[in-house]
Amino acid sequence: MRRREFLMSLAAPAVAQPKRAPNVVFIYADDLGYGDLGCYGNPSIRTPNLDRLAAEGSRFTQFYSAAPLCSPSRAALLTGRYPVRSGINFVLFPDSTGGLPDSELTIAELLRGRGYATQIVGKWHLGHRPQYLPTRHGFDFYFGIPYSNDMSLKTNTVYDEINRDAGRPPRPPSVYDRYRTLPGIPLMRDEKVIETEPDQTQLTPRYTAEASAFIRKSAASARPFFLYFAHTFPHVPLFASEKFRGRSRRGLYGDAVEELDWSVGEVLRTLAELKLDENTLVLFSSDNGGAAGLGRHGGSNGALREGKSTTWEGGVREPFLARWKGRIAPGQVRQDVASTLDVFPTLARLAGGAPPSNVVLDGADLAPLLWEGQGRPQPDFFYYHNGELRALRRGPWKLHFTGGPKQPPKTELYQVETDIAERFNLAERHPDIVARMQEAIARHQASFEKAPTQR
Ligand code: MG
Repeated sequence: MRRREFLMSLAAPAVAQPKRAPNVVFIYADDLGYGDLGCYGNPSIRTPNLDRLAAEGSRFTQFYSAAPLCSPSRAALLTGRYPVRSGINFVLFPDSTGGLPDSELTIAELLRGRGYATQIVGKWHLGHRPQYLPTRHGFDFYFGIPYSNDMSLKTNTVYDEINRDAGRPPRPPSVYDRYRTLPGIPLMRDEKVIETEPDQTQLTPRYTAEASAFIRKSAASARPFFLYFAHTFPHVPLFASEKFRGRSRRGLYGDAVEELDWSVGEVLRTLAELKLDENTLVLFSSDNGGAAGLGRHGGSNGALREGKSTTWEGGVREPFLARWKGRIAPGQVRQDVASTLDVFPTLARLAGGAPPSNVVLDGADLAPLLWEGQGRPQPDFFYYHNGELRALRRGPWKLHFTGGPKQPPKTELYQVETDIAERFNLAERHPDIVARMQEAIARHQASFEKAPTQR
């Protein structure tokens, strides 16, 4: 028995659940910014389906991803743990040999252990070698691209176009060396590569058909289902199918987001048609903020500072929508601090029984905020990037550290509720707050050992 299966056997509920647990659909965008959706104030991208999801449920304004990059943020979402605990500290590449360790318990494994059918559609990015694939981490089925859509000799040329647009000098040809011996972007079904360099204009429609088929197939069975729909877009290179190309006032980026919104609408339509709205929790978020340096190819983080690959708010504060008809009151705007770390404990409890007591989880149940009509104590939130702790959010305060080989160390304090753009450093004015937050950081860092980094 693998360690993880052993952990799962301990995590199983002690008594059979009388009622069927609700289905769960988690839709995850890639590199979508805080300011990219109509319901978050975007003036030129039309997102009627996501706006409707927000209107029919809760929309969060202070929701965080546990990392500003693809692989670590996904590790955190699926394990409910800061990425330093699993060692997924950096983005994985097609020449990476590492992945999410077998010792980690994913939410898919937990839900499958409690009777759910499980499928991932789209981007995995937690290791593409056989032992790390989604099917080895609790998913019954997989259809998608196992890493980013720019990671091949053919698709990485997008950065030359971006540099040309921005008037930056071209990259040296050696940037392509790592891709030269690699086979190109794989499209996978379960553990098999079924196409290489698939037509990316067709990805969103194909993903959507796959997701709808899984919902239909599962609805016909007696088991609840967990669909993890991790879109490839709006990560670059951007693509949209013919129906959406040239439609948005925001250019190709807007087209890709509008097609993603259409896809959300198709999932909602399928759920409604099968009369599953009142028995399905639908969640939506993004893995990290919009890439601020990509010009028209990148997303908008609204009023937030900077974006992807940073621990400023634009890198990690994300849209988060939650709908469960009949349970979550419609039209709620929640200002509570919450994060992707909270998804694991929430779903664990929803599926029957307590979260596993033998796994250290970093988040807390969202049920009090979502459907129990209560508040909850605001959790501390630690910002990690590339395996390093870079900031702490406590109450309205954020203590942020910069520094490294090229920069002298600097500690900054922002009141991020009144100063959403992190413009006014109050560290000198509030040395007591800085000291208390530094103590909390020291305690947090002393509380565990980092796992070996996966590359
Ligand atoms: Mg991303």
